[in-house]
Amino acid sequence: MENAVCLPTGRAAVRWPPRVHKSQLRRLYASIPTDQLDEKLVDDVGISLYMRCQAIITISKARQGQVLCPVCNRAGREQFISRRGHAREELIHCPQCGWEITWADYQRTFQKKQFNEGGAGEGFRRYLEHYPKCRTPWEKMLAIDLLIHEFHYSLRSEPDRPTRAACVNLIEGRLADVVRCLNEISGVTGEHPELTERHRAWKAKCIAAGNWHPK
Ligand SMILES: [Zn+2]
Repeated sequence: MENAVCLPTGRAAVRWPPRVHKSQLRRLYASIPTDQLDEKLVDDVGISLYMRCQAIITISKARQGQVLCPVCNRAGREQFISRRGHAREELIHCPQCGWEITWADYQRTFQKKQFNEGGAGEGFRRYLEHYPKCRTPWEKMLAIDLLIHEFHYSLRSEPDRPTRAACVNLIEGRLADVVRCLNEISGVTGEHPELTERHRAWKAKCIAAGNWHPK
């Protein structure tokens, strides 16, 4: 039987947004002291981070048993498929469009790509809620700055203990490289004490994270 529409199947249908490039953030922060934020760059970075946070939450839901069909999603329909258990070979099948994939193959699309929600879910969700409400470039810049300074917190015994900077989930590179980049570019805007203070608090958390964190 011939398909009326040729839709991508299996892993080919699954696309995850990349992390933001460090060079984009460098240019963005370099524009702060001039008080002439590049509006297009703010939007590019802000929306890229939004898509990244969305993907992190989508993957969390899938791990909890609800897989968002990527084919329906691109067509503007939010179709979740319930997983029956934890078997790697379980076939996930979309009743709406027919897309299907095994759970093992689906996992392969996002593993080792820094999509773990971990203990930073509150920060990612806060950005998803807040960013669309930002109107001016400066409001968006503040939301971006808050997000990339988020931290993962210990999920179990010490929920207030910072364990790992969340920037590596959002910005390309290894954790140590991304932390170094943030130390170079943020918190150096003397005329904006809010940003300076946030960066200072973030550095204190990096130290508190101890052995979990590169110096
Ligand atoms: Zn579907």
